[in-house]
Amino acid sequence: MPAPSVIIDLDIIAENTRRVADTLKPQGIGMFGVTKAACGSPLVARAMLRGGVFGLADSRLDNVRRLRHAGISAPIMMLRIPSVTEAPDVVRHCDLSLNSEAAVLDALAEAAQEQGVVHDVILMLEMGDRREGVSPEDLIPLAQTAMAEPSLRLAGIGANFMCASGVLPTVEKLERLARLADDVEQRFGTRLDYVSGGNSANLALMETEGVKMPARINNLRIGSTILRGENSFTGGTLPGYDDGAFTLEAELVEMKTKQSLPDGETGPDAFGNRLTFKDRGARLRGIVNLGRVDIRPEGLKARHRNIEIVTASSDHLIVDITEAKKFAVGDPIRFEMDYGALVQAMLSPYIEKHLAGRENIAPRPSAIRLIADASVHDLEETRQFLLGATALGFEIKRDGAPEPADLPLWIIPGRNGIHELIATADVEAVESGLLWMDSDPGDIGAVVTPEAAALLGIRTATREQAAIIGERDIVAFTMEDVDLVGIREATRRAIKRVTETTDGFALVLHASVARGMDADPREAGLSYRECSTVMERVAASEELRAIVLAGLGAEPDPAALESAYGYLLSALGKRILA
Ligand SMILES: *Cc1c(COP(=O)(O)O)cnc(C)c1O
Repeated sequence: MPAPSVIIDLDIIAENTRRVADTLKPQGIGMFGVTKAACGSPLVARAMLRGGVFGLADSRLDNVRRLRHAGISAPIMMLRIPSVTEAPDVVRHCDLSLNSEAAVLDALAEAAQEQGVVHDVILMLEMGDRREGVSPEDLIPLAQTAMAEPSLRLAGIGANFMCASGVLPTVEKLERLARLADDVEQRFGTRLDYVSGGNSANLALMETEGVKMPARINNLRIGSTILRGENSFTGGTLPGYDDGAFTLEAELVEMKTKQSLPDGETGPDAFGNRLTFKDRGARLRGIVNLGRVDIRPEGLKARHRNIEIVTASSDHLIVDITEAKKFAVGDPIRFEMDYGALVQAMLSPYIEKHLAGRENIAPRPSAIRLIADASVHDLEETRQFLLGATALGFEIKRDGAPEPADLPLWIIPGRNGIHELIATADVEAVESGLLWMDSDPGDIGAVVTPEAAALLGIRTATREQAAIIGERDIVAFTMEDVDLVGIREATRRAIKRVTETTDGFALVLHASVARGMDADPREAGLSYRECSTVMERVAASEELRAIVLAGLGAEPDPAALESAYGYLLSALGKRILA
């Protein structure tokens, strides 16, 4: 695993979510899963949805867009009170938002009216934490503003605790919130959908002190308990929850015995802080390839016993390993992160993100399942290809539905229905990447996980296709790009993209992309060598899970089919000298 990386265990996220749901459901409380500490990662969001959240909540529009572009259609709540200028985008991407200002409600109403929708608002009450919200006396006038706007729906009221000032939620405060909900309902003769009582701190109150939420509280917004198993009161872990969903892994790059005191006159460090150190004599110290640029070192704790964090500069994290087990330069060092460090690590472009335990989720395929027209099955070229696949150790199956250890190979005439085919190969809880080799981006809008998709070999694209590629942030290498960076580098980046946060990927190989498969050899983009290089890298990744061979027409030309089979055998791991 390249370091530094954040290793994300989606199973733990889903399991922690289930646990929260088990606590809340009997009390009639629903929850929104808060994705902001994971920067709106669609993978994390889907794990939360699998675990039973009703909707998702985030504080940043960029994160919400990321969720929407990944095709997530669950309700999304905007947590941070919107600014006037972003009101149109909040209405466009979010189903509901938390609010405290009449001017913002006006802006939301205007935007909703323009977009022809009704936007749900929750009004926030200030209950001591001194962050967002109106005082109880100002609630009715604000509710009046919301009620007066036909394009807004007053969906509820809410409060937030333990954020700006660390003020704890209490039953007394929550009862006050419940009474205010009654007041609003009586005053306006409406029914509020949400009385949103707070965040993970409320859950800590319930789980550690056995406190029941007042009956009217029917919603919480939960982030840190799901992501970190955190007890918000103590910073520790709540009993029964797993704190291992995110691990920061970096590498030991220096190990030397050094004096614990600096030598020489001292001024401020690189960040303007004046530090004092304790004289502990000579200590065995390590340097880990992380720094303040990536991470807040105060928010890290080593997952190994007896490693102490001493200090950090922009790029060097200094640890004391005198009392730890024996390490060597090059060893991975693992850290847990607090909420702040987690966001920062998720944001850092220098830190890769990987999924943990994928080998447990998606087994390596042991069989090739050829799904094609009967005439293709009968061809001599097909027989030869299947013999080649058998020699590589694959069992051969024909047609029918793909089973978990199968690598399905569909041969289809054109581009129609590719996304649907790939979807049938996906097992629940498996995130698939998509490496699409084609001269034309096809139905690119239907890509399910754009963050794990890459296009290679594009020669033409319509304006619409180009816009979708840009908007959904899909990695695309045109033939021009391939000429510029070279096929090896383009392939490396593409495969990185489709494997980094997935349990393997599907390969779409369209006849128009490479020499030999295409009817008109002058048209094809990639040369025989270039396409073979891609296939060899695909094999080396060991993450190929499905193949769609497309564009050979209803009755494939045997020579074109033979070329395509040759490429596919390379992708399955055939070597010249094997
Ligand atoms: C961040 C946030 C939450 C989630 O808090 P956790 O402690 O992570 O559960 C809930 N509500 C609002 C308004 C937030 O900003």
